[in-house]
Amino acid sequence: MTDAWKKQTKAVHSGSRRSQYGEVSEAIYLTQGFVYDTAEQAEARFVELGEDEFIYARYGNPTTRMFEERIAALEGAEDAFATASGMAAVNAALVAPLKAGDHVVAARALFGSCLYILDEILPRFGVEVTLVDGLDLSAWEAALRPDTKLVFFESVSNPTLEVIDVEAVSKLAHAVGALVVVDNVFATPVYSRTLELGADVVVYSATKHIDGQGRTLGGVILGTKEFVRKVAEPYLKHTGAAMSPFTSWIMLKGLETMELRVRAQVASAEALASALVGHPKLARVIYPGHPSHAQHALVQATTGKGGTVVSIDLAGGQEAAFRFLNALEIGIISNNLGDAKTLLTHPATTTHQRLPEEQKVELGITPGLVRISLGIEATEDLVADMLQALDKA
Ligand SMILES: *Cc1c(COP(=O)(O)O)cnc(C)c1O
Repeated sequence: MTDAWKKQTKAVHSGSRRSQYGEVSEAIYLTQGFVYDTAEQAEARFVELGEDEFIYARYGNPTTRMFEERIAALEGAEDAFATASGMAAVNAALVAPLKAGDHVVAARALFGSCLYILDEILPRFGVEVTLVDGLDLSAWEAALRPDTKLVFFESVSNPTLEVIDVEAVSKLAHAVGALVVVDNVFATPVYSRTLELGADVVVYSATKHIDGQGRTLGGVILGTKEFVRKVAEPYLKHTGAAMSPFTSWIMLKGLETMELRVRAQVASAEALASALVGHPKLARVIYPGHPSHAQHALVQATTGKGGTVVSIDLAGGQEAAFRFLNALEIGIISNNLGDAKTLLTHPATTTHQRLPEEQKVELGITPGLVRISLGIEATEDLVADMLQALDKA
């Protein structure tokens, strides 16, 4: 196991713990508890856990530990804690380091449940939250204060795919001593350089590209050993958001093929964006990997790739968007993303339905907007499917 390995090699081998049987595929340790040879051994383990020692699956489990070590190796993080869902990871990354009286600055364009934690939960416990336009560095600078303890944003926003400058925002945040927590789902672990660019903590919904096959929910928090073990773990192990060993096994297997899947998805996203830019039925094509995207230069200088999602805005509004969605033969209408199957969402009437009209306008969630999460089907088939559906829109 070496740090010099490429991500593809780490994704297959890092974190493996073989039992005495020498199994090739990782074992599922479907156990809640662990036994001790002696009372003295039990006592010692409760004082301090060694490398291969566990006491209870809410605290840790060998299969879950394999997943944590593998994803940590991929991300270039010292350590990781796996959780039952992406939101459990976001919640812990936000709540564990904060207390009443602290101030938080976050980007406004957020996944709905992330916004709920910032807008509804944290203020109830005396944490003050300021929301800013994540693209506007002067807005970040103006909002940051000496008592700002934490900064939170999605590196690429959903569903309008705005790309935030991780390096610049981290620099501003660190100048006031704030912890930088990044929800990195849309960047994907394959292309992420988020810690290297200056963020302190990275959070993933493993439900997306890591499982990547629509089976199970999961999440992970990555950062320094100090943050993961001294800040996140005490909160998580006592509040019960642990990932189940069976889910951890699915995520381990997901990591093995993630690079292949994500690379295929990105190639299709690039091809689709190129095929759709300038289409007469579209008011906008949003893809960070296309030269027409406002932050294309930033993408080229950081992750290098535009991700697995393309958003399009049909000039004919909601009716045209619905006709397009209903005419698809391969693409499926669903609100997940990062799946092997191509999934399409109409945010204005589903994921972002509850937002007030003015907030939808502010976030660019127009009636014609459709989010396309590319799957691993043949690129030509996907592009042909979108074009024939656009003809009917
Ligand atoms: C899906 C998602 C989440 C939540 O993850 P779950 O696994 O559904 O709990 C959080 N942030 C982003 C950006 C997501 O896409």
